[in-house]
Amino acid sequence: MSSVIESEEHQALRAAVAALGKRHGRDYAPEALWSEAAKLGYLGVNLPEAYGGGGGGIYELSIVLEELAAAGCPLLMMVVSPAICATVIARFGTDDQKAAWLPALADGTRTMAFGITEPDAGSNSHRITTTARRDGADWLLTGRKVFISGVDKADATLIVGRTEDARTGSLKPCLFIVPRDTPGFAYRPIDMEIRASEWQFELAFDDMRLPADALVGDENAGLLQLFAGLNPERIMTAAFALGMARYALGRAVEYARERTVWRQPIGAHQAIAHPLAQSHIEVELARLMMQKAAHLYDSGDDAAAGEAANMAKYAAGEACVKAVDQSVHTLGGNGLTREFGLASLITASRVSRIAPVSREMILNYVSHQTLGLPKSY
Ligand SMILES: Cc1cc2nc3c(=O)[nH]c(=O)nc-3n(C[C@H](O)[C@H](O)[C@H](O)COP(=O)(O)OP(=O)(O)OC[C@H]3O[C@@H](n4cnc5c(N)ncnc54)[C@H](O)[C@@H]3O)c2cc1C
Repeated sequence: MSSVIESEEHQALRAAVAALGKRHGRDYAPEALWSEAAKLGYLGVNLPEAYGGGGGGIYELSIVLEELAAAGCPLLMMVVSPAICATVIARFGTDDQKAAWLPALADGTRTMAFGITEPDAGSNSHRITTTARRDGADWLLTGRKVFISGVDKADATLIVGRTEDARTGSLKPCLFIVPRDTPGFAYRPIDMEIRASEWQFELAFDDMRLPADALVGDENAGLLQLFAGLNPERIMTAAFALGMARYALGRAVEYARERTVWRQPIGAHQAIAHPLAQSHIEVELARLMMQKAAHLYDSGDDAAAGEAANMAKYAAGEACVKAVDQSVHTLGGNGLTREFGLASLITASRVSRIAPVSREMILNYVSHQTLGLPKSY
């Protein structure tokens, strides 16, 4: 039975990753940090030992991302490459796919992006139209994707498409590994207002030819594969958000202890102190839900993990947006300077409210799945 109090091993992992994050800091070079974290075994901590991973779970991986983000140097691709893509391949890939990808994803030498969002589907992933059809032994994939992170640097993108079910004629989800240099795989950066080293891309492909083994695992297991990736994605987004919130609050508290414009430092004014205290509490509460979700997921209870992971992502995203807002405000004019580096977090923090699933879609999920309320859409 897992405890809500972290084990000594987990505390030690936190401390070690925090020390790594501190060495890199806010002005980090993502590639250098990625390769150092990889060498220390942090990026593959959730992957099976048989493939060079650490044999841990999403709990450990979420510690790594949260602590790096709390040090001001989050690695967004951790949400995608080891958490979503490697999980899906480890659980559902063929032996060849596992051998080809897992050791390299575990030691960080290769990365994989994840593409599900489409321009005309957005939050409604039932509406995606990227379609694969058979051509001899090959597949021909046609579709468009939008907001896909890190495609330019990732060795491949795991694309969610659909194939026709021979029995029913209806379309069912299927996942394909698409190497970046596949002929016909076109990607174009989107001009985002986010200061981050990972860019978002629009993808387009028209009858792009893929070999038979590009399909992940079994053609009939696409839906299960997708669900296997969603919980880690939400838990890791929560970790990203909580780390960012802690980073911003840390800067604001430091500032509020020192900055004096009357007789006392501004942190003595309750109008400044209380919102920071409130944010700290909200971050701690959201982390408890994230830990619950990670424990459930790692224990193999996908269904219970689903609800907890959604709630954790919601709580962490909201805590992050509020913490960053209050932190920027605490610094007065300095909150908007480049020197103090908090203003850019205003846009960055909003990502955790909208992606990978928006606040409203989580509220819909809880309304329908948890509370049993009727659907409006
Ligand atoms: C920085 C960034 C990185 C991303 N990286 C990736 C990635 O790597 N891979 C990937 O596949 N995707 C990625 N995404 C896409 C992200 O998952 C989508 O933006 C998100 O799922 C929302 O889809 P949308 O933008 O189309 O919004 P829409 O679906 O158009 O929604 C717009 C607004 O309407 C609301 N809304 C929609 N439907 C309902 C409803 N039924 N009830 C109430 N409100 C509703 C939403 O909550 C939202 O506020 C990324 C996005 C960002 C911003």
